[in-house]
Amino acid sequence: THFSEFDLDARLLRAIEESGYTTPTPIQAQAIPVVLTGQDVMGSAQTGTGKTAGFTLPILQKLLPLASTSTSPARHPVRALVLCPTRELAVQVAENADKYSKHTPIRTAVVFGGMDIKSQSPSLRAGVEFLVATPGRLLDHLEQGNVSLAQVNYLVLDEADRMLDMGFLPDLQRILNLLPKSRQTLLFSATFSPEIRKLAQSYQKNPVTIET
Ligand code: AMP
Repeated sequence: THFSEFDLDARLLRAIEESGYTTPTPIQAQAIPVVLTGQDVMGSAQTGTGKTAGFTLPILQKLLPLASTSTSPARHPVRALVLCPTRELAVQVAENADKYSKHTPIRTAVVFGGMDIKSQSPSLRAGVEFLVATPGRLLDHLEQGNVSLAQVNYLVLDEADRMLDMGFLPDLQRILNLLPKSRQTLLFSATFSPEIRKLAQSYQKNPVTIET
């Protein structure tokens, strides 16, 4: 297969080409068409398999018709939220999203703990469609009124097993309760432990399982 076989916008295909990718990886070949249909996904994939592009590209595709060229913050609500266990992963995902969205009007941002919260606030307040965050810091920003999750229709739980291992379950539950019920939820995890299955059952609708 080739990326052009997916129903992706020319602006995304151009960014893929500029990234030097020629063939989709197995997780991309499986995940991209399923995410484009709007179904929930429960994916087992390690870092290094190309899973980031596997969820980022189809989500960007979904956001394209909604991305406004207006500068009004109200026209740029968060529509896609990616939750990551660590700063390192969050930064990597955001770098991917930046790279793939560079020919589009979609705005991206990343927030994580251990860095001055004030320096992260202006980009949130200016409005951003695609937000990558670690759970604790996202809650801080929510408490400060820097961001609303009321229009998040795409949620990704990346390395969900690590988030649970790190004790983020209460934070995840608080965040998930703030999201609209009508949304697409993608969960990626190295293992499908009973705890992960329970998380999936609580927050996903008939997820398609993808294993690589
Ligand atoms: P990930 O597993 O998402 O962290 O991706 C691992 C690495 O593979 C990253 O450096 C990506 O830029 C790269 N990558 C992702 N998809 C492809 C692809 N289809 N072809 C070549 N490299 C890729």
